Amino acid sequence: MPERTPQLAANWKMHKTIEETEAFLAEFLPRAEEPGPEVVVCPPFPSLKTAVELCLQSRVRVAAQNMHEEAEGAFTGEVSAPMLLELGVRGVILGHSERRQYCDESDEALARKVPAALEAGLEPILCVGESEGQRDAGETEGILTRQIEVDLANVADERLGQVVIAYEPIWAIGTGRTATTDQAQEAIALIRRLIEARSSEAAGAIRILYGGSVKPGNAGELIAQPDVDGALVGGASLDPADFAAIVDAAR
Ligand code: PEP
Repeated sequence: MPERTPQLAANWKMHKTIEETEAFLAEFLPRAEEPGPEVVVCPPFPSLKTAVELCLQSRVRVAAQNMHEEAEGAFTGEVSAPMLLELGVRGVILGHSERRQYCDESDEALARKVPAALEAGLEPILCVGESEGQRDAGETEGILTRQIEVDLANVADERLGQVVIAYEPIWAIGTGRTATTDQAQEAIALIRRLIEARSSEAAGAIRILYGGSVKPGNAGELIAQPDVDGALVGGASLDPADFAAIVDAAR
């Protein structure tokens, strides 16, 4: 099994102005200097340039929260991979459940976006996960299987290992209700088996994160699970001390 470097990614959602981004990074960056896990911050579009400039001399990388699959065109309000790359952005969250729920982001759109990000040179952080109703109805496995199969359908087997997947059960996002370590491990092991069915090399290399109410107090035990390679953190990543403590928990 190849060693997988854990990744901790901060999804700020629609939080933090440029000024607030500067204040966060002034406090956070000195705490993120020690070698160890990969650290990624994902600010809203207007703060990306500031974040990239401030992170330049650090180990912290910057990713966006969405992109369009086309490089350019008549898509009002959208942003493309080349535009993000020009800013120095290194990755992009794709398929977050809030975008699936509020912006009608479909698995079919993700099947175009994920390879477009990879081909442009951005690391996609693909979010998948079931709702509470789907879990209660015993549909978790089927939902995850469909999302992984469709969303990654156009990614060549040799490139699968370059994708980061975040398993985010929707019922755990922003609710304070974290998946148990067993639930996180079980779902993430299933995702790894789905990748293995296409490429055993990719299954060993691909990072699969857990997301859903990760906090300094529960990050360590979640990330210690054998298949959990880090965390995508929403609410707790808005506070520099909390996010730094989550990064420390992954060391
Ligand atoms: C998220 O939105 O990706 C997330 C995991 O949020 P939270 O940590 O607030 O549950």
